[in-house]
Amino acid sequence: MEIPKHRHCLNCGISIPPDQVFCSEKCRMEYMQKRKRMLRSQYMFLAIAILITLYYIISIAFKV
Ligand SMILES: [Zn+2]
Repeated sequence: MEIPKHRHCLNCGISIPPDQVFCSEKCRMEYMQKRKRMLRSQYMFLAIAILITLYYIISIAFKV
């Protein structure tokens, strides 16, 4: 018995042919937008962490 090869849409998770990544163009767009938003919030978090670290380094260096 062979299980038919298939993938799942990266956005909504439904079964799709193995040569596809998304079930529709709409899902592709949605996924890209979600990913972009996620990346942006990760950069924001990183920037804040760097600022806090810099603040500590400077305040220790100058003993404020
Ligand atoms: Zn989908």
